[in-house]
Amino acid sequence: MAHSAVIVGAGVIGLATAHRLAEDGLAVTVVDAAPASTGASVHNAGWIVPIMSAPVPAPGMLGQALRWMTRKDSPLYVRPTPRPEHVRFMLRMLRHCNPRDFHHGLEALVTLNERTVHLFDAYEKEGVRFEYHRTGQLMAFRTHEAMRRYQAEAAHLERIGHTAIPLSGDELRDLEPALGPQVRTGLRCPQERHVDPASLVRGLADRCRDLGVRFLYDHPVTGIDSRGATVTSVLAGGERLTGDVFVLAAGVHTGPLARLAGFPLPVQPGKGYGFDDTSGSVTLRHSVYLGEAKVAVTPLSDRLRFAGTMEFGSFDSAVDRHRLRGIARSAHAFLPDFPPALQPRGWTGLRPMTPDGLPVIGPLPGRENLLVASGHCMLGVTLAPMTAELIAGHVAGAPEASALAGPFAPGRFASRRRRP
Ligand SMILES: Cc1cc2nc3c(=O)[nH]c(=O)nc-3n(C[C@H](O)[C@H](O)[C@H](O)COP(=O)(O)OP(=O)(O)OC[C@H]3O[C@@H](n4cnc5c(N)ncnc54)[C@H](O)[C@@H]3O)c2cc1C
Repeated sequence: MAHSAVIVGAGVIGLATAHRLAEDGLAVTVVDAAPASTGASVHNAGWIVPIMSAPVPAPGMLGQALRWMTRKDSPLYVRPTPRPEHVRFMLRMLRHCNPRDFHHGLEALVTLNERTVHLFDAYEKEGVRFEYHRTGQLMAFRTHEAMRRYQAEAAHLERIGHTAIPLSGDELRDLEPALGPQVRTGLRCPQERHVDPASLVRGLADRCRDLGVRFLYDHPVTGIDSRGATVTSVLAGGERLTGDVFVLAAGVHTGPLARLAGFPLPVQPGKGYGFDDTSGSVTLRHSVYLGEAKVAVTPLSDRLRFAGTMEFGSFDSAVDRHRLRGIARSAHAFLPDFPPALQPRGWTGLRPMTPDGLPVIGPLPGRENLLVASGHCMLGVTLAPMTAELIAGHVAGAPEASALAGPFAPGRFASRRRRP
């Protein structure tokens, strides 16, 4: 039986896991390379959206990216880079852009999301302090064709109680008068939620401290020691940290860390951009998806947050002004009161992407007490509490956890030669 755990990464996934294991009575240490939680877990749209369970690799997705290659402000972009792991990753992703894998992934994510909103409600009841909105989500489209694609995907969510109700442009404007005349159709998704992501990270960290979790920031993990199949310690900022269980929740850095333990994982960055608007030029009650532009707009207590863009092949956090301006232009097209020529000061976040679009949750092959919780792509906030449930199930040896986590097992990335 495990009594102690070391969690690598203080993003939303590491914190949710630390919180859950501490609740189960384990002595938990969270270690992070950065001086504070500043990664994608803070820089995102904050949507809790089981309704958007569709995996990123979809039929036609990479073809669309290639058509957009020459546009500096497109929502999807593959940066040409000769890094072999990037090229291998994109080829692997291309292989998953087919109807069979897409539907398999969608069904697995729908099942994983079954308890998501209940688990967020439980955080609130239990005293995790964060900004939480239950106003629901609207998806706004200029064309019926674009809307129908999302409607078809959303239909898979009905079995877990999430609905997408079709509305006309005027019905959408009754709910959100800021939407302009170009919006012709859309969906209302009343069960979806949103949070201020920075407040969630802060709230989970505070609750973890109340439960006795120890935090070591500014401690990059650079080594993993094992005896046979058992990991005995990690080397973090010069300190050797021992534990019964170790969890890799290091976002886009999970791949190289897993390699230290002898099993590299194909987790690559999908860079996103965003900015916060405090001008008050537009007010919204619901979170709103600007469909064709693939931009998320999130109304928070003191600002409106805009987020979007999926850029493969970028490994740094530099802000490309063209992409940011592309988001601002789309905002104006859907929300005419939003200033058209805004040059926003923005931020970026690196989503941990996997070639099949599914997270990686469970034991690393060949290392019985080293678990992985990463690769959540566009759904890391949404899936954080459920990921923590699965990791807690693995630690406790609960068979239901292994059954539910089957499609997400790290072992699916084993080469044929290494598969049992
Ligand atoms: C623009 C944008 C919008 C998004 N919108 C949404 C949304 O609305 N809803 C949603 O569900 N998801 C959304 N996402 C996705 C979500 O943000 C991510 O999936 C999620 O934040 C990943 O969390 P994480 O904890 O795995 O990684 P991270 O937040 O990256 O945390 C990983 C941590 O590991 C640490 N680390 C790395 N290497 C080491 C090391 N060697 N040693 C120690 N520590 C290390 C890092 O310092 C970091 O703190 C969005 C992402 C972006 C970029």
